[in-house]
Amino acid sequence: MKGLAQKLRTGQVTSVQLVQHYLDKIQADDPKVQAFLYVDWEGALAAARASDERRKLGKPLSPWDGIPIAVKDNICTVGMPTTCASRLLEDYYSPFDAAVIERIKRAGLPVLGKTNLDEFAMGSSTEYSAYHITHNPYDLSRVPGGSSGGSAAAVAAGLCPWALGSDTGGSIRQPAAFCGVVGLKPTYGRVSRWGLVALASSLDQIGPMGRTVEDVEILFSLIAGYDGRDSTSLPDAAYHCSASGPDTLAGLRLGVPEEFFGNGLCPEVAASVRRAITLMESLGAQVQPISLPHSAYAIDTYLTLVTAEASSNLARYDGVRYGKRVEADDAWDMFRKTRTKGFGPEVKRRIMLGTYVLTASHHEAYYEQARRVRSLITQDLEDAFAAVDVVVTPTTPTTAFRIGEKQDPLQMYLSDSYTATANLAGIPALTLPCGFDSRGLPIGIQLLADHFREDLLFRTGRLLERILGEVGE
Ligand code: GLN
Repeated sequence: MKGLAQKLRTGQVTSVQLVQHYLDKIQADDPKVQAFLYVDWEGALAAARASDERRKLGKPLSPWDGIPIAVKDNICTVGMPTTCASRLLEDYYSPFDAAVIERIKRAGLPVLGKTNLDEFAMGSSTEYSAYHITHNPYDLSRVPGGSSGGSAAAVAAGLCPWALGSDTGGSIRQPAAFCGVVGLKPTYGRVSRWGLVALASSLDQIGPMGRTVEDVEILFSLIAGYDGRDSTSLPDAAYHCSASGPDTLAGLRLGVPEEFFGNGLCPEVAASVRRAITLMESLGAQVQPISLPHSAYAIDTYLTLVTAEASSNLARYDGVRYGKRVEADDAWDMFRKTRTKGFGPEVKRRIMLGTYVLTASHHEAYYEQARRVRSLITQDLEDAFAAVDVVVTPTTPTTAFRIGEKQDPLQMYLSDSYTATANLAGIPALTLPCGFDSRGLPIGIQLLADHFREDLLFRTGRLLERILGEVGE
């Protein structure tokens, strides 16, 4: 992004030209990829013109003023629909911008449009969108991952330079890995969720996606910061890009949890991640095995909590306050018909599961138990970070699967086996590409650090990215 910023600063390119370039690309390639649910053709150009005016006056809002962005369609934007890829919010226009949208607008970024997702961010393939499937740009017969599959595919296909996603159990990192791009799930509380349509409030975070670690770091610095409108926002949430630092990883203690390299991990993914670990060792990192003994329970714990919280958060879609209403003779019938017609099968499944685990008779056995296991998982990581600085794992057990391949919801849930841990513990996690499988599909490596240590993730990620580039990946 520094290159683009430089061209804008020196007048080699205008924001209007830049935005037009991406709109042309969307027009040419999005019919194949189908990453976008909505493209703001006029609005993006108007924002670009305003940016060019500011530059002419010598008053850009930031070095990135005029560089466009795409936004996942569960983040509220004035003047564009916010559908969450659900029929229930088909015609919904938010009356306000989400906090992250205010922030990127304050930096001068034109919004190109809204990207596809699994309905209400529930899913790992973007196949659960009520509108259309998004295709993986590396192989159009495969999924881009999910739920931020539209944002990942748009970045990978060059339809936008960077994008925003949201991550509750892996929804930024899993699609980023499947599409060969970089994505960050920030520390819980670092990026305001005001204006993010809630899935599971104790886990949700908005985060940046881009082509390089540096781009993701820059975008993170634009969106991080305290916001009193999000009660979980942390006072010292702001982030300033780290100076480029030493050229080695000398002194960095890298932990490799063997639980993340066991059954279910595709051998090609394992080999690629292990090779990246060896490269980090060659840069001076001290690699040591660690154990996260409760990680085997991460998916069960995650699913219990995510369904419970989703069932509660989605109670608001009752045909009265937001979105679609199906008329009926009485109020109860109206609620029932609205929700029956408005929600897709995965959303209904989760509302039912979540309601079940919260019932008086099962609450203790499921929901409270999951909360207890969550603290054990968090404790495992606290113990790990007493001994190491960064934990390294594969991002996903496999590379991108075929569209239609995972019909069984349980199989779909296993896509998040390695990502959900970071959400449960609230810690930051970065994924970056570390190679390709024999079909030419991208493989992602995940780096985890302690709360507020995004700086470590970026420093490690940048050096790993560079050495991977040098050895030819
Ligand atoms: N794939 C996970 C799920 O379906 C994660 C979703 C998310 O992070 N929004 O719950």
